[in-house]
Amino acid sequence: MRYISTRGQAPRLGFEEALLTGLARDGGLYVPETWPQLGKAAQARLAGQPYGAVAAQVMRPFVGRSLAGKALQGAIAEAYGTFRHQAVAPLVQIDEGLWLMELFHGPTLAFKDVALQLLGQLYDRVLKARGERITVIGATSGDTGSAALEACRDRAAIDIFILHPKGRVSEVQRRQMTTIDAANVHNIAIDGSFDDCQDLVKAMFNDQAFRDRVNMAAVNSINWARVLAQVVYYVTGAIALGAPHRAVSFAVPSGNFGNVYAGYAAKSMGLPIERLIVGSNRNDILTRFFSSGAMKITRVTPSLSPSMDIQVSSNLERLLFDLFDRKGEKLAAAMQEFRRSGHFTAPQRHWGRVAKTFHAHRLDDRQTLAAMRDVHRRTGMLVDPHSAIGLAAALDARRSAAKSATPIISLATAHPAKFPDAVEQATGIRPALPSHLAHLMSARERLTDLPNDLARVQDFVLANTRLGHNR
Ligand SMILES: *Cc1c(COP(=O)(O)O)cnc(C)c1O
Repeated sequence: MRYISTRGQAPRLGFEEALLTGLARDGGLYVPETWPQLGKAAQARLAGQPYGAVAAQVMRPFVGRSLAGKALQGAIAEAYGTFRHQAVAPLVQIDEGLWLMELFHGPTLAFKDVALQLLGQLYDRVLKARGERITVIGATSGDTGSAALEACRDRAAIDIFILHPKGRVSEVQRRQMTTIDAANVHNIAIDGSFDDCQDLVKAMFNDQAFRDRVNMAAVNSINWARVLAQVVYYVTGAIALGAPHRAVSFAVPSGNFGNVYAGYAAKSMGLPIERLIVGSNRNDILTRFFSSGAMKITRVTPSLSPSMDIQVSSNLERLLFDLFDRKGEKLAAAMQEFRRSGHFTAPQRHWGRVAKTFHAHRLDDRQTLAAMRDVHRRTGMLVDPHSAIGLAAALDARRSAAKSATPIISLATAHPAKFPDAVEQATGIRPALPSHLAHLMSARERLTDLPNDLARVQDFVLANTRLGHNR
Protein backbone atom coordinates (compact mmCIF):
# COMPACT_ATOMS: atom_id res chain seq x y z
CA MET A 1 0.00 0.00 0.00
CA ARG A 2 1.28 3.44 -0.98
CA TYR A 3 0.08 6.80 0.30
CA ILE A 4 -0.40 9.91 -1.83
CA SER A 5 -0.73 13.55 -0.80
CA THR A 6 -4.04 15.37 -1.26
CA ARG A 7 -2.09 18.22 -2.90
CA GLY A 8 -0.42 16.01 -5.48
CA GLN A 9 3.16 17.35 -5.18
CA ALA A 10 4.77 15.30 -2.39
CA PRO A 11 6.47 11.92 -2.88
CA ARG A 12 4.35 8.76 -2.57
CA LEU A 13 5.21 6.99 0.67
CA GLY A 14 4.88 3.57 2.26
CA PHE A 15 3.06 3.12 5.59
CA GLU A 16 6.10 3.68 7.83
CA GLU A 17 7.13 6.89 6.08
CA ALA A 18 3.55 8.20 6.14
CA LEU A 19 3.43 7.40 9.87
CA LEU A 20 6.68 9.26 10.57
CA THR A 21 6.02 12.19 8.20
CA GLY A 22 2.55 13.36 9.29
CA LEU A 23 1.88 16.43 7.14
CA ALA A 24 3.04 15.99 3.53
CA ARG A 25 5.82 18.26 2.27
CA ASP A 26 3.41 20.03 -0.16
CA GLY A 27 1.12 20.93 2.76
CA GLY A 28 -1.31 18.10 1.94
CA LEU A 29 -2.51 15.09 3.94
CA TYR A 30 -1.63 11.50 3.12
CA VAL A 31 -4.40 9.16 1.94
CA PRO A 32 -4.19 5.57 0.68
CA GLU A 33 -3.78 5.31 -3.08
CA THR A 34 -6.73 2.89 -3.24
CA TRP A 35 -9.24 1.56 -0.68
CA PRO A 36 -8.66 -2.09 0.18
CA GLN A 37 -12.02 -3.91 0.10
CA LEU A 38 -13.49 -5.85 2.98
CA GLY A 39 -15.93 -8.14 1.15
CA LYS A 40 -19.15 -9.57 2.56
CA ALA A 41 -17.61 -12.95 3.42
CA ALA A 42 -14.68 -11.25 5.18
CA GLN A 43 -17.08 -9.03 7.15
CA ALA A 44 -19.16 -12.04 8.17
CA ARG A 45 -16.03 -13.82 9.42
CA LEU A 46 -15.24 -10.90 11.75
CA ALA A 47 -18.50 -11.29 13.67
CA GLY A 48 -17.87 -12.18 17.29
CA GLN A 49 -14.08 -11.78 17.12
CA PRO A 50 -12.33 -9.74 19.84
CA TYR A 51 -11.53 -6.08 19.10
CA GLY A 52 -7.78 -6.68 18.70
CA ALA A 53 -8.28 -9.49 16.18
CA VAL A 54 -10.62 -7.32 14.09
CA ALA A 55 -8.15 -4.43 14.32
CA ALA A 56 -5.28 -6.57 12.97
CA GLN A 57 -7.33 -7.78 10.01
CA VAL A 58 -8.69 -4.32 9.15
CA MET A 59 -5.27 -2.66 9.38
CA ARG A 60 -3.07 -5.26 7.67
CA PRO A 61 -3.76 -4.21 4.05
CA PHE A 62 -2.95 -0.59 4.99
CA VAL A 63 0.26 -1.53 6.79
CA GLY A 64 1.49 -3.83 4.01
CA ARG A 65 4.82 -5.49 4.71
CA SER A 66 5.69 -3.20 7.63
CA LEU A 67 5.34 -4.55 11.17
CA ALA A 68 5.68 -8.08 9.85
CA GLY A 69 5.09 -11.27 11.78
CA LYS A 70 3.46 -10.58 15.12
CA ALA A 71 4.62 -6.95 15.38
CA LEU A 72 1.27 -5.42 14.39
CA GLN A 73 -0.68 -7.74 16.68
CA GLY A 74 1.75 -6.94 19.51
CA ALA A 75 1.27 -3.19 19.07
CA ILE A 76 -2.52 -3.61 19.04
CA ALA A 77 -2.53 -5.86 22.11
CA GLU A 78 -0.42 -3.42 24.14
CA ALA A 79 -2.34 -0.35 22.97
CA TYR A 80 -5.75 -1.71 23.89
CA GLY A 81 -4.53 -3.55 26.97
CA THR A 82 -4.56 -0.10 28.63
CA PHE A 83 -8.35 0.16 28.17
CA ARG A 84 -10.61 -0.50 31.12
CA HIS A 85 -13.25 -2.38 29.14
CA GLN A 86 -12.69 -5.79 27.52
CA ALA A 87 -14.68 -4.78 24.43
CA VAL A 88 -12.53 -1.59 24.01
CA ALA A 89 -15.49 0.14 22.27
CA PRO A 90 -18.65 -1.33 23.87
CA LEU A 91 -22.18 -0.62 22.56
CA VAL A 92 -24.99 0.37 24.90
CA GLN A 93 -28.55 0.43 23.57
CA ILE A 94 -30.40 3.53 24.66
CA ASP A 95 -33.55 3.46 22.53
CA GLU A 96 -35.18 1.47 19.75
CA GLY A 97 -32.69 1.51 16.88
CA LEU A 98 -30.25 3.75 18.74
CA TRP A 99 -26.97 2.74 20.36
CA LEU A 100 -24.20 4.62 22.08
CA MET A 101 -20.63 3.41 21.43
CA GLU A 102 -18.43 4.20 24.43
CA LEU A 103 -15.02 5.24 23.14
CA PHE A 104 -13.82 6.66 26.47
CA HIS A 105 -12.45 3.64 28.33
CA GLY A 106 -8.81 4.52 27.60
CA PRO A 107 -6.33 6.05 30.08
CA THR A 108 -7.38 9.72 29.59
CA LEU A 109 -11.15 9.16 29.25
CA ALA A 110 -11.49 10.52 25.69
CA PHE A 111 -11.78 8.79 22.31
CA LYS A 112 -8.37 10.19 21.28
CA ASP A 113 -6.81 7.35 23.30
CA VAL A 114 -8.08 4.83 20.73
CA ALA A 115 -5.83 6.34 18.07
CA LEU A 116 -2.98 7.71 20.19
CA GLN A 117 -2.37 4.59 22.28
CA LEU A 118 -1.80 2.71 19.03
CA LEU A 119 0.25 5.53 17.51
CA GLY A 120 2.65 5.41 20.48
CA GLN A 121 3.12 1.66 20.01
CA LEU A 122 3.60 1.96 16.25
CA TYR A 123 6.14 4.80 16.60
CA ASP A 124 8.09 2.82 19.16
CA ARG A 125 8.29 -0.37 17.11
CA VAL A 126 9.03 1.30 13.78
CA LEU A 127 11.71 3.56 15.32
CA LYS A 128 13.40 0.70 17.17
CA ALA A 129 13.54 -1.37 13.99
CA ARG A 130 15.12 1.57 12.14
CA GLY A 131 17.44 2.52 15.00
CA GLU A 132 15.96 6.04 15.09
CA ARG A 133 14.56 8.32 17.80
CA ILE A 134 12.12 11.22 17.68
CA THR A 135 11.17 14.22 19.76
CA VAL A 136 7.44 14.82 19.82
CA ILE A 137 6.51 18.46 20.44
CA GLY A 138 2.88 19.57 20.66
CA ALA A 139 0.56 22.25 21.98
CA THR A 140 -2.69 21.51 23.78
CA SER A 141 -5.74 23.37 25.00
CA GLY A 142 -6.72 20.32 27.05
CA ASP A 143 -7.53 16.82 25.76
CA THR A 144 -4.94 16.01 23.11
CA GLY A 145 -1.99 16.72 25.40
CA SER A 146 -2.83 14.13 28.03
CA ALA A 147 -3.74 11.51 25.41
CA ALA A 148 -0.42 12.09 23.60
CA LEU A 149 1.60 12.00 26.84
CA GLU A 150 -0.04 8.77 28.00
CA ALA A 151 0.65 7.25 24.57
CA CYS A 152 4.35 8.23 24.48
CA ARG A 153 5.30 7.85 28.16
CA ASP A 154 8.15 5.41 28.87
CA ARG A 155 8.74 4.73 25.13
CA ALA A 156 12.46 4.25 24.67
CA ALA A 157 12.60 5.88 21.20
CA ILE A 158 10.52 8.96 22.05
CA ASP A 159 10.89 12.15 24.10
CA ILE A 160 7.73 14.22 24.36
CA PHE A 161 7.23 17.91 25.21
CA ILE A 162 3.70 19.31 25.56
CA LEU A 163 3.10 23.05 25.82
CA HIS A 164 -0.07 24.28 27.52
CA PRO A 165 -1.19 27.85 28.30
CA LYS A 166 -0.45 28.48 31.99
CA GLY A 167 -3.60 28.79 34.07
CA ARG A 168 -5.90 28.30 31.08
CA VAL A 169 -6.59 24.57 31.14
CA SER A 170 -8.91 23.00 33.72
CA GLU A 171 -7.34 21.55 36.87
CA VAL A 172 -8.29 17.98 35.91
CA GLN A 173 -6.84 18.45 32.42
CA ARG A 174 -3.60 19.92 33.83
CA ARG A 175 -3.21 17.20 36.42
CA GLN A 176 -3.84 14.48 33.81
CA MET A 177 -0.70 15.80 32.13
CA THR A 178 1.51 16.90 34.99
CA THR A 179 1.11 13.88 37.30
CA ILE A 180 2.56 11.49 34.70
CA ASP A 181 5.76 10.19 36.25
CA ALA A 182 8.01 9.25 33.32
CA ALA A 183 11.54 10.36 32.44
CA ASN A 184 10.71 11.08 28.77
CA VAL A 185 7.68 13.28 29.55
CA HIS A 186 8.04 17.08 29.77
CA ASN A 187 5.19 19.48 30.51
CA ILE A 188 5.78 23.14 29.75
CA ALA A 189 3.40 25.82 31.05
CA ILE A 190 3.73 28.82 28.73
CA ASP A 191 3.00 32.28 30.02
CA GLY A 192 0.53 32.97 27.17
CA SER A 193 -2.55 31.69 25.32
CA PHE A 194 -3.18 28.43 23.46
CA ASP A 195 -2.49 30.29 20.20
CA ASP A 196 0.91 31.35 21.59
CA CYS A 197 1.68 27.69 22.35
CA GLN A 198 0.66 26.65 18.84
CA ASP A 199 2.74 29.44 17.31
CA LEU A 200 5.79 28.27 19.28
CA VAL A 201 5.34 24.71 17.99
CA LYS A 202 4.92 25.95 14.42
CA ALA A 203 8.03 28.12 14.75
CA MET A 204 10.02 25.10 15.96
CA PHE A 205 8.77 23.08 12.96
CA ASN A 206 9.81 25.90 10.62
CA ASP A 207 13.31 26.09 12.15
CA GLN A 208 14.86 23.43 9.89
CA ALA A 209 18.14 23.19 11.80
CA PHE A 210 16.36 22.70 15.12
CA ARG A 211 13.81 20.36 13.60
CA ASP A 212 16.50 18.10 12.13
CA ARG A 213 18.67 18.24 15.25
CA VAL A 214 15.92 16.84 17.52
CA ASN A 215 14.17 14.79 14.80
CA MET A 216 10.94 16.57 15.58
CA ALA A 217 7.60 14.81 15.05
CA ALA A 218 3.95 15.72 15.56
CA VAL A 219 1.04 13.67 16.87
CA ASN A 220 -1.77 15.89 15.61
CA SER A 221 -4.87 14.54 13.99
CA ILE A 222 -3.63 14.78 10.42
CA ASN A 223 -1.47 11.66 10.91
CA TRP A 224 -2.86 8.88 8.71
CA ALA A 225 -2.24 6.22 11.36
CA ARG A 226 -4.67 7.98 13.70
CA VAL A 227 -7.44 7.75 11.10
CA LEU A 228 -6.61 4.11 10.46
CA ALA A 229 -6.90 3.19 14.16
CA GLN A 230 -10.36 4.78 14.21
CA VAL A 231 -11.65 2.82 11.20
CA VAL A 232 -11.66 -0.30 13.38
CA TYR A 233 -14.54 0.68 15.68
CA TYR A 234 -16.77 1.56 12.72
CA VAL A 235 -16.16 -2.00 11.55
CA THR A 236 -16.84 -3.64 14.93
CA GLY A 237 -19.96 -1.47 15.44
CA ALA A 238 -21.42 -2.16 12.00
CA ILE A 239 -20.80 -5.90 12.33
CA ALA A 240 -22.27 -6.07 15.83
CA LEU A 241 -25.50 -4.60 14.46
CA GLY A 242 -25.74 -6.93 11.49
CA ALA A 243 -23.29 -5.99 8.72
CA PRO A 244 -22.83 -7.17 6.02
CA HIS A 245 -26.54 -8.14 5.93
CA ARG A 246 -27.94 -4.94 7.41
CA ALA A 247 -26.93 -1.31 6.97
CA VAL A 248 -26.09 0.96 9.89
CA SER A 249 -25.59 4.72 10.33
CA PHE A 250 -23.20 6.56 12.66
CA ALA A 251 -23.58 9.89 14.46
CA VAL A 252 -20.30 11.64 15.31
CA PRO A 253 -19.58 14.82 17.31
CA SER A 254 -17.04 16.50 15.06
CA GLY A 255 -14.23 19.03 15.31
CA ASN A 256 -11.28 18.29 13.05
CA PHE A 257 -13.35 15.76 11.06
CA GLY A 258 -10.85 12.97 11.86
CA ASN A 259 -13.29 10.70 13.62
CA VAL A 260 -16.10 10.89 11.07
CA TYR A 261 -13.64 10.67 8.17
CA ALA A 262 -12.66 7.24 9.53
CA GLY A 263 -16.32 6.28 9.08
CA TYR A 264 -16.12 7.43 5.47
CA ALA A 265 -13.01 5.26 5.08
CA ALA A 266 -14.89 2.23 6.48
CA LYS A 267 -17.72 2.90 4.00
CA SER A 268 -15.18 3.18 1.19
CA MET A 269 -13.87 -0.26 2.18
CA GLY A 270 -17.32 -1.76 1.57
CA LEU A 271 -18.99 -1.63 4.99
CA PRO A 272 -22.76 -1.03 4.59
CA ILE A 273 -22.78 2.41 6.22
CA GLU A 274 -25.87 4.34 5.14
CA ARG A 275 -25.37 7.77 6.66
CA LEU A 276 -22.69 9.63 8.57
CA ILE A 277 -24.36 12.16 10.83
CA VAL A 278 -22.09 15.05 11.80
CA GLY A 279 -22.76 16.96 15.04
CA SER A 280 -21.30 20.45 15.58
CA ASN A 281 -21.51 23.04 18.32
CA ARG A 282 -21.94 26.74 17.54
CA ASN A 283 -18.66 26.59 15.60
CA ASP A 284 -20.65 25.06 12.77
CA ILE A 285 -18.59 25.33 9.60
CA LEU A 286 -19.16 21.60 8.95
CA THR A 287 -22.94 21.91 9.30
CA ARG A 288 -22.97 24.84 6.89
CA PHE A 289 -20.77 22.92 4.46
CA PHE A 290 -22.91 19.79 4.35
CA SER A 291 -26.16 21.70 4.02
CA SER A 292 -24.95 24.05 1.27
CA GLY A 293 -21.68 22.82 -0.26
CA ALA A 294 -20.08 26.12 0.72
CA MET A 295 -17.75 27.12 3.57
CA LYS A 296 -16.91 30.49 4.98
CA ILE A 297 -14.45 30.95 7.85
CA THR A 298 -15.74 32.78 10.90
CA ARG A 299 -14.25 33.34 14.37
CA VAL A 300 -13.98 30.47 16.86
CA THR A 301 -16.26 30.98 19.87
CA PRO A 302 -15.66 29.01 23.08
CA SER A 303 -18.41 26.48 23.90
CA LEU A 304 -19.29 23.76 26.41
CA SER A 305 -17.70 21.25 24.01
CA PRO A 306 -14.18 22.72 23.72
CA SER A 307 -12.71 19.79 21.76
CA MET A 308 -14.97 20.82 18.88
CA ASP A 309 -14.18 24.56 18.98
CA ILE A 310 -12.59 24.53 15.55
CA GLN A 311 -13.27 26.48 12.38
CA VAL A 312 -11.16 24.85 9.71
CA SER A 313 -11.44 21.06 10.11
CA SER A 314 -8.10 19.78 8.88
CA ASN A 315 -9.24 16.26 7.94
CA LEU A 316 -12.02 17.58 5.70
CA GLU A 317 -9.30 17.97 3.08
CA ARG A 318 -9.22 14.17 2.75
CA LEU A 319 -12.90 14.12 1.77
CA LEU A 320 -12.47 17.14 -0.53
CA PHE A 321 -9.72 15.21 -2.34
CA ASP A 322 -12.38 12.71 -3.51
CA LEU A 323 -14.76 15.57 -4.38
CA PHE A 324 -12.01 16.86 -6.68
CA ASP A 325 -11.72 13.45 -8.37
CA ARG A 326 -8.43 12.90 -6.49
CA LYS A 327 -6.78 15.62 -8.58
CA GLY A 328 -4.28 17.10 -6.15
CA GLU A 329 -3.33 20.17 -8.18
CA LYS A 330 -6.98 21.24 -8.40
CA LEU A 331 -7.52 20.78 -4.68
CA ALA A 332 -4.26 22.64 -3.91
CA ALA A 333 -5.49 25.62 -5.95
CA ALA A 334 -8.90 25.56 -4.22
CA MET A 335 -7.27 25.38 -0.76
CA GLN A 336 -4.99 28.30 -1.59
CA GLU A 337 -8.01 30.33 -2.67
CA PHE A 338 -9.86 29.29 0.53
CA ARG A 339 -6.91 30.46 2.64
CA ARG A 340 -6.81 33.78 0.76
CA SER A 341 -10.54 34.61 0.60
CA GLY A 342 -12.04 32.55 3.45
CA HIS A 343 -14.56 31.08 0.97
CA PHE A 344 -14.83 27.61 -0.53
CA THR A 345 -17.45 26.03 -2.79
CA ALA A 346 -17.49 22.29 -3.50
CA PRO A 347 -17.42 21.16 -7.14
CA GLN A 348 -20.79 19.82 -8.31
CA ARG A 349 -19.67 16.53 -9.83
CA HIS A 350 -19.73 14.25 -6.78
CA TRP A 351 -21.74 16.49 -4.46
CA GLY A 352 -24.87 14.34 -4.76
CA ARG A 353 -23.07 11.31 -3.32
CA VAL A 354 -21.61 13.34 -0.44
CA ALA A 355 -24.94 15.02 0.34
CA LYS A 356 -26.62 11.58 0.41
CA THR A 357 -24.08 10.19 2.90
CA PHE A 358 -23.47 13.14 5.22
CA HIS A 359 -26.16 14.75 7.32
CA ALA A 360 -25.17 17.56 9.68
CA HIS A 361 -26.76 19.11 12.74
CA ARG A 362 -25.71 22.01 14.95
CA LEU A 363 -26.41 22.62 18.65
CA ASP A 364 -25.69 25.73 20.70
CA ASP A 365 -24.80 25.43 24.40
CA ARG A 366 -28.40 25.74 25.55
CA GLN A 367 -29.48 22.90 23.25
CA THR A 368 -26.47 20.85 24.33
CA LEU A 369 -27.46 21.15 27.99
CA ALA A 370 -31.06 20.27 27.06
CA ALA A 371 -29.82 17.18 25.19
CA MET A 372 -27.76 16.07 28.23
CA ARG A 373 -30.76 16.58 30.51
CA ASP A 374 -33.02 14.68 28.10
CA VAL A 375 -30.77 11.58 27.92
CA HIS A 376 -30.46 11.55 31.67
CA ARG A 377 -34.22 11.82 32.19
CA ARG A 378 -35.00 9.06 29.69
CA THR A 379 -32.19 6.60 30.45
CA GLY A 380 -30.53 7.60 33.72
CA MET A 381 -27.21 7.95 31.88
CA LEU A 382 -24.84 10.89 32.21
CA VAL A 383 -23.22 11.92 28.93
CA ASP A 384 -20.57 14.56 28.34
CA PRO A 385 -21.40 17.62 26.16
CA HIS A 386 -19.60 16.29 23.05
CA SER A 387 -21.39 12.93 23.16
CA ALA A 388 -24.71 14.72 23.74
CA ILE A 389 -24.23 16.68 20.51
CA GLY A 390 -23.74 13.42 18.60
CA LEU A 391 -26.86 11.93 20.15
CA ALA A 392 -28.98 14.98 19.40
CA ALA A 393 -27.74 14.91 15.79
CA ALA A 394 -28.72 11.21 15.59
CA LEU A 395 -32.24 11.98 16.85
CA ASP A 396 -32.54 14.85 14.38
CA ALA A 397 -31.46 12.60 11.49
CA ARG A 398 -33.99 9.96 12.54
CA ARG A 399 -36.80 12.53 12.57
CA SER A 400 -35.89 13.81 9.13
CA ALA A 401 -35.85 10.29 7.64
CA ALA A 402 -39.00 8.93 9.24
CA LYS A 403 -39.17 5.76 7.17
CA SER A 404 -35.58 4.68 7.71
CA ALA A 405 -35.31 1.63 9.93
CA THR A 406 -31.53 1.75 9.78
CA PRO A 407 -30.04 1.53 13.28
CA ILE A 408 -27.83 4.40 14.38
CA ILE A 409 -24.67 4.16 16.49
CA SER A 410 -23.84 7.44 18.20
CA LEU A 411 -20.20 7.81 19.24
CA ALA A 412 -19.57 8.82 22.87
CA THR A 413 -16.21 10.60 22.69
CA ALA A 414 -15.56 11.52 26.33
CA HIS A 415 -16.37 10.19 29.79
CA PRO A 416 -18.83 12.49 31.65
CA ALA A 417 -16.28 12.96 34.47
CA LYS A 418 -14.03 14.77 32.03
CA PHE A 419 -16.56 17.63 31.86
CA PRO A 420 -18.07 17.63 35.37
CA ASP A 421 -19.16 21.30 35.37
CA ALA A 422 -21.30 20.97 32.24
CA VAL A 423 -22.77 17.66 33.40
CA GLU A 424 -23.67 19.17 36.76
CA GLN A 425 -25.15 22.25 35.10
CA ALA A 426 -27.38 20.05 32.93
CA THR A 427 -28.43 17.37 35.41
CA GLY A 428 -27.60 18.56 38.93
CA ILE A 429 -25.31 15.55 39.33
CA ARG A 430 -21.52 15.86 39.52
CA PRO A 431 -19.95 12.74 37.97
CA ALA A 432 -17.09 11.19 39.97
CA LEU A 433 -13.70 10.44 38.43
CA PRO A 434 -13.21 6.70 37.83
CA SER A 435 -11.25 5.09 40.67
CA HIS A 436 -8.00 4.75 38.68
CA LEU A 437 -7.87 8.56 38.49
CA ALA A 438 -8.76 9.16 42.13
CA HIS A 439 -5.08 9.87 42.92
CA LEU A 440 -5.06 12.73 40.42
CA MET A 441 -5.95 15.51 42.81
CA SER A 442 -3.23 14.60 45.32
CA ALA A 443 -0.37 13.28 43.15
CA ARG A 444 2.81 15.33 42.68
CA GLU A 445 2.83 17.58 39.62
CA ARG A 446 5.83 17.91 37.30
CA LEU A 447 5.97 20.93 35.01
CA THR A 448 8.26 23.75 33.95
CA ASP A 449 7.11 27.36 33.64
CA LEU A 450 8.58 29.15 30.62
CA PRO A 451 7.97 32.57 29.07
CA ASN A 452 6.42 32.89 25.59
CA ASP A 453 9.91 32.96 24.07
CA LEU A 454 11.00 30.65 21.26
CA ALA A 455 14.71 30.57 22.16
CA ARG A 456 13.99 29.69 25.80
CA VAL A 457 11.64 26.85 24.80
CA GLN A 458 14.12 25.49 22.24
CA ASP A 459 16.92 25.60 24.85
CA PHE A 460 14.74 23.65 27.24
CA VAL A 461 13.98 20.99 24.62
CA LEU A 462 17.65 20.67 23.65
CA ALA A 463 18.71 20.36 27.27
CA ASN A 464 16.15 17.67 28.07
CA THR A 465 15.77 15.52 24.97
CA ARG A 466 17.79 12.33 25.22
CA LEU A 467 18.49 12.42 21.51
CA GLY A 468 21.81 14.26 21.53
CA HIS A 469 23.20 12.12 24.33
CA ASN A 470 22.75 8.82 22.49
CA ARG A 471 24.29 9.76 19.20
C1 LIG B 1 -11.21 15.58 19.68
C2 LIG B 1 -12.60 15.38 20.18
C3 LIG B 1 -13.72 15.46 19.32
C4 LIG B 1 -13.60 15.83 17.86
O1 LIG B 1 -13.03 14.81 17.09
P1 LIG B 1 -12.48 15.11 15.61
O2 LIG B 1 -11.81 13.88 15.17
O3 LIG B 1 -11.53 16.28 15.77
O4 LIG B 1 -13.66 15.47 14.77
C5 LIG B 1 -14.98 15.22 19.86
N1 LIG B 1 -15.13 14.94 21.16
C6 LIG B 1 -14.08 14.85 22.02
C7 LIG B 1 -14.34 14.56 23.45
C8 LIG B 1 -12.78 15.07 21.56
O5 LIG B 1 -11.74 14.99 22.42
